[in-house]
Amino acid sequence: MQSELNKWPAETIRDRIESATNSDVEAVLANQDHTIDDMLVLLSPAAERYLEPMAVEAQRLTRWHFGRTIGMYVPLYLSNVCGADCTYCGYAVRSGNKEKRITLTEDEIRCECATLSGMGFQNVLLLTGEAPKAVPVDYIVRGVEIALEYFPSVSIEVYSLDETDYARMTSLGLEGVTLYMETYDRATYADVHLLGEKADYDYRLNAIERAGRAGTRRLSVGALLGLFDWRIDGFWAALHAHHLQKTCWQSSIAVSFPRILHAPERYPIAQPVSDKHLVQLMLATRLVLPEAGFNVSTRERPAFRDRLIPLGVTNMSAGSSTRPGGYGLYGEETLEQFAIEDNRSPAEIGDVIQKAGYEPVWKDFDRAFDSTNPSP
Ligand code: SF4
Repeated sequence: MQSELNKWPAETIRDRIESATNSDVEAVLANQDHTIDDMLVLLSPAAERYLEPMAVEAQRLTRWHFGRTIGMYVPLYLSNVCGADCTYCGYAVRSGNKEKRITLTEDEIRCECATLSGMGFQNVLLLTGEAPKAVPVDYIVRGVEIALEYFPSVSIEVYSLDETDYARMTSLGLEGVTLYMETYDRATYADVHLLGEKADYDYRLNAIERAGRAGTRRLSVGALLGLFDWRIDGFWAALHAHHLQKTCWQSSIAVSFPRILHAPERYPIAQPVSDKHLVQLMLATRLVLPEAGFNVSTRERPAFRDRLIPLGVTNMSAGSSTRPGGYGLYGEETLEQFAIEDNRSPAEIGDVIQKAGYEPVWKDFDRAFDSTNPSP
């Protein structure tokens, strides 16, 4: 991936974006197929006047490739112990949070899984901080095994792993790996990742490809919007997804658009992203990556999430907690990673999706047809 990034330094991207004109945007929109280069035009200030036609095209492409369905998933935090120091995160070891950290026991994982399964979820995302001692690979493997007893579809969003670790979990039935680069800009990356293995830019950059080589069926990438210039990081994230579509062609590739809305006091959000610009980024990404899944989490406000439904979203989380044990066990007693904006119940969000003319999908039907990935 680094060689792809080398072809697109920030200055080149900035120049191309800033020099795009109305006629460039109109020329790109007049074409049916769009290249990754076209994204620079679609991300430009000039393209802000064309969000309406971009939205119409994004909706058409999404319906063509995904139908009128939105996959539903829920995050399940296994631990809030973290030895890394990412300045924007409430779990960071030096975040100043003095609250007791916990790692769920096997019984506690079962309890949370039973609660979520009882709410109708069939697709769970297991999360941890970066704590290889408190949360070693063997623990994550066990978490995946337990979750597979309750859910047909299990994904992880944990620290970067070796290919053998991903292969071990994939052979058990792990379906997806989500791993955000946070920012692709090396200098900013170094500024905000102060401690822990996560400070190793290259090891993280290549992790998702290791997961793909290990046979993981769903791969999700993204930039944490707010750390750096959204246009440039958004372009690099799309470039990453585009690269994975070629190198990990057996996997389906998705892009997430996490935006920092709340951060610990010590991190004033460096480059806040407006609603309008987030929409522009999603539309531009959809036009150049028509087959990529788009994930939208409960970080975003309810009214804004509802407006995003017809614009390219394919997966939404619902009823989320970012606290370990936050569903059936400990409520709000444990430390959260970040505040959730959309606190509606899964049923309420399902209703909103249906009213928008889409079908919320709780079950991953693909799996039933995938002979390489037998049901647990
Ligand atoms: S972003 Fe992840 S690795 Fe960084 S401090 Fe938060 S939980 Fe730890």
